Amino acid sequence: MGAPEAFTATATVGHFVNGRIVPGRSGRSQPVFNPATGAQARSVALADAADVQAAVAAAQAAFPKWADTPPLRRARVLFRFLELMNQQRDTIAAMITAEHGKVFSDAQGEVTRGIEIVEFACGIPQLLKGDYTEQVSTGIDNWTMRQPLGVVAGVTPFNFPCMVPCWMFPVALAAGNTFVLKPSPLDPSPSLFMAELLKQAGLPDGVFNVVQGDKDAVDALLDHPDVKAVSFVGSTPVAHHIYQEAARHGKRAQALGGAKNHMVVMPDADLDQAVDALMGAAFGSAGERCMAISVAVLVGEVAERILPRLVERTRALKVKNGMEPDAEMGPIVTAAARSRIADLIASGEREGAQLLVDGRGLQVAGHEGGFWLGGTLFDQVRPEMRIYREEIFGPVLACVRVPDFARAVELVNAHAYGNGVACFTRDGHVAREFGRRIQAGMVGINVPIPVPMAWHGFGGWKASLFGDMHAYGEEGVRFYTKQKSVMQRWPESTPKGAEFAMPTSK
Ligand code: NAD
Repeated sequence: MGAPEAFTATATVGHFVNGRIVPGRSGRSQPVFNPATGAQARSVALADAADVQAAVAAAQAAFPKWADTPPLRRARVLFRFLELMNQQRDTIAAMITAEHGKVFSDAQGEVTRGIEIVEFACGIPQLLKGDYTEQVSTGIDNWTMRQPLGVVAGVTPFNFPCMVPCWMFPVALAAGNTFVLKPSPLDPSPSLFMAELLKQAGLPDGVFNVVQGDKDAVDALLDHPDVKAVSFVGSTPVAHHIYQEAARHGKRAQALGGAKNHMVVMPDADLDQAVDALMGAAFGSAGERCMAISVAVLVGEVAERILPRLVERTRALKVKNGMEPDAEMGPIVTAAARSRIADLIASGEREGAQLLVDGRGLQVAGHEGGFWLGGTLFDQVRPEMRIYREEIFGPVLACVRVPDFARAVELVNAHAYGNGVACFTRDGHVAREFGRRIQAGMVGINVPIPVPMAWHGFGGWKASLFGDMHAYGEEGVRFYTKQKSVMQRWPESTPKGAEFAMPTSK
């Protein structure tokens, strides 16, 4: 099976409601570009409140039967979906490259990381087993079980149009919920494609729905009384807004926000490894990753040794159409994002940082209309500068020099964001101290992008996560279920007479 007709050049990408692709009723749409050419490839429908209402109604109607389906049978649907995802990995990856711009091998990696969450969710019978205590009091047993919430919603960012939805819906569906996904309108096709694969896998109509759209669709989901929980991944201001609004409406929420990930390079680090790590983590996916390294913290004299190598490698980056086999970095997702990043680079210059490599003005032959920006490298960045404080979300690496390890830890811990962080060193004690003292949710020791595996859960600290549960893993199962405790006694063991004191174990 190739990409279905709905994804061809001039089509408008629609919604997926009750098992069917529908155009929606709002009459609103926006263009979807191929960032490597700058040409409009298709349009995407933008839902209004009525479109959202239709999707939530379908999900609400499908909920009782799906919730009542034994976990093992729900898992079997996911096993078939897993098979289809594996078969279609490259189709989805090509869709991602065409709408997002990242290089094809990176897009394949994204799909693989999404697939791993499906594999985790297939274990739902084990994950939902519950706890049981026999004889909590004479003749009484007590057990706890976890039950699904109902209709739950996911709102996802442009930068991982397959993987981030997969952080949410496989676990939510496995746990017995029904789902409404609101993907980014910049790259809407993978979500719709996965909806079709879920249908082919045997998922009943209405259990998984997609509404394409913008703030209007998100607000309608937040307002809707039948939506019991919202998972959000995106920028911090929107994450904060979603968390507040969800709470105001009495909904459960997890809202993952932006990042400013530091990589500390100690003087004893293996420099070859550190340079490779910085190049991949700063410029992979054009820096449009919430786990991208955007700050290199150079400790002591390591700056003098590492900077010439970073300059050389940044200048040599192969920035091309992501479908070219040797491309290392693709274009920026939109022209607007490129100008926002270029403005931030200009602010760095104005504020006195030293611009070692300037990626602005890059042209790629044969792709003159694409949204190009080359790798950019700053030295002498200071904490008060905008390029240090703000998330740039582009191929810009800011180097900050500090005298020692203690100052490096202080610097990282003082930042408003706390998503990922890394330390490159050969010293076990330094590594251990770093892991214990650093204020961030995901830590890498000689690992630049420490994205936790499917069964560990993903989430940052500080302004990088609003809520108390991380995405996927066992925290994901907890997020999408509520606990019920049942205490049971049978008449033979029931003592006579009313008890007015607090029950205690007898
Ligand atoms: P974004 O916040 O602009 O959009 C995310 C989603 O929210 C999209 O579906 C969008 O349509 C919707 N949205 C946008 N504005 C809204 C508003 N005012 N009200 C309601 N909904 C709104 O983010 P983006 O540009 O698509 O993605 C990049 C951001 O996502 C970066 O900040 C990145 O760090 C973050 N991100 C974080 C993680 C993480 O795990 N913490 C993972 C991936 C991306």
